[in-house]
Amino acid sequence: MAYFTAYSPAFENRIFSLLLIFVITFAATFVSFNSLLRIFIYRKIKPIYKAISRLKSGNVKSGKIDIDRDIISDVNNEVIRWESERDEEIAQLKKLETFRREFLGNVSHELKTPIFNIQGYIHTLLDGGLEDKDINVHYLRRAASSVDRLCLIVEDLEAISKLESGELELEFRSFDIHDLAKEVFDSLELPSSDRTIALGFKEGCDKPFYVFADKERIRQVLVNLVVNSIKYGKDGGKTIVGIYDFDEKYLIEVTDTGIGIDTIHLPRLFERFYRVDKSRSREQGGTGLGLAIVKHLIEAHTETINVRSAIGVGSTFGFTLKKAK
Ligand code: ADP
Repeated sequence: MAYFTAYSPAFENRIFSLLLIFVITFAATFVSFNSLLRIFIYRKIKPIYKAISRLKSGNVKSGKIDIDRDIISDVNNEVIRWESERDEEIAQLKKLETFRREFLGNVSHELKTPIFNIQGYIHTLLDGGLEDKDINVHYLRRAASSVDRLCLIVEDLEAISKLESGELELEFRSFDIHDLAKEVFDSLELPSSDRTIALGFKEGCDKPFYVFADKERIRQVLVNLVVNSIKYGKDGGKTIVGIYDFDEKYLIEVTDTGIGIDTIHLPRLFERFYRVDKSRSREQGGTGLGLAIVKHLIEAHTETINVRSAIGVGSTFGFTLKKAK
């Protein structure tokens, strides 16, 4: 007589078939549910991904995402990256806004003094001063000197704005920097002899050194640095230009024996309108823009400028230029 025991092969086969059907159905359901879920997520994520791409690059990318990749973590990473970029941008914009406000404040402050002077002299002349021989020419001269100062400030501001907007085009050519420095010395003979400051070259540097740069811009750099060495120099002192060989470059240094600058001022010295001693700078006819212009001009050549100084001993401003081939 045949009967089934709990462990008969037929029973085992049945159990096995049922298990197999269960596993196959579960696997099929899992795979189709998983891919449906992925398609659903993909559809939801795609517009976010596109929006981030558009915000990042300013235009819509193809928006294709590889569905086999871990899109959620991809998008998550994108959002984190995007957030930190936005934070940096906002910080930069805030900095620029402060910079702009400070700049406007500085410009109006600089312009105010000569404008008020001119206004005062002209009104005094109109109110009868014109007939007064003791003051009329004197006041006109003072008004004229304030107009000259206004022009100087406006010229420097124009130069700065051209440099910052990238309008400036450099005309590179080979020339002798020693010869140019000599021309600059000659053009400043009068102010330097007024202060009895001797202008000259460092030993071994009184000979030609050919560089590849924009000659007129470098003339401006040298004029600003040598003028400063006279303005902030000591009577009877000297200003020395040294030229040093550095592989493919020359290092040009302007050294003075002037009042010197405290090291705490050095990091901000090349900022627009930054002055160590405001009254001395104005007294000397400074606009506070000379070194900012110098820095821009040297950086436009993709070169560098640095300064070292000691109070009471003097200052050295050095910049690099490419050697001519
Ligand atoms: P300014 O028109 O006031 O001279 P600059 O931008 O040329 O403006 O210089 C900024 C400040 O740096 C000056 O006001 C001055 O305090 C300081 N400075 C520049 N050059 C020298 C120097 N050779 N010796 C001492 N101080 C200097």
